[in-house]
Amino acid sequence: MTDRPLLMLDVDGPLAPYVGSPYRRPAGYLTHRVESRTWRERQRRAGVRNPKPLRVWLHPGHGPALLALPYELVWATTWREEANEHLAPLLGLPRLPYVDWPSMHHGDPDGLHWKTRHLVAWAAGRPFAWVDDEIEPPDTAWIAAHHPGPALTLTVDHRYGLRPEDFAQLTDWAEEITR
Ligand SMILES: [Mg+2]
Repeated sequence: MTDRPLLMLDVDGPLAPYVGSPYRRPAGYLTHRVESRTWRERQRRAGVRNPKPLRVWLHPGHGPALLALPYELVWATTWREEANEHLAPLLGLPRLPYVDWPSMHHGDPDGLHWKTRHLVAWAAGRPFAWVDDEIEPPDTAWIAAHHPGPALTLTVDHRYGLRPEDFAQLTDWAEEITR
């Protein structure tokens, strides 16, 4: 269905929570070791000679819960195509389209998050919700001013990941704009 809004999904934070201590895994999450090429290269560049697989916490309920939402799911993460390769099977998700960022972590002249302009361009006017742990008020304001369709920015606490109230908010918003 093409009339569904897009759901732009960040991974690190909303789906893979992280905290200062490596031992405080939130309830319901499972620990996975992922052989990410991007991670391995980054570790090598940082001088780690034999990088270990990346430890990722994922919630097995999140894939089914996301698929039940009235959205078209899109990866909006630095994992790019590796989200399909490594994370989708662990979450119970099919391969999804992903935003292939032309650059990542660059500075922005207006202090926006580096994803903000890319996401608005990628959505090309379609309604979208963006779920991320790094959205700030200027991003929401910029999107409201530059995206011609409805948009929801949902900031998720990176210590806990997506919670039931986040899923409820996403459902409510999609129903509101398609009513
Ligand atoms: Mg994140």
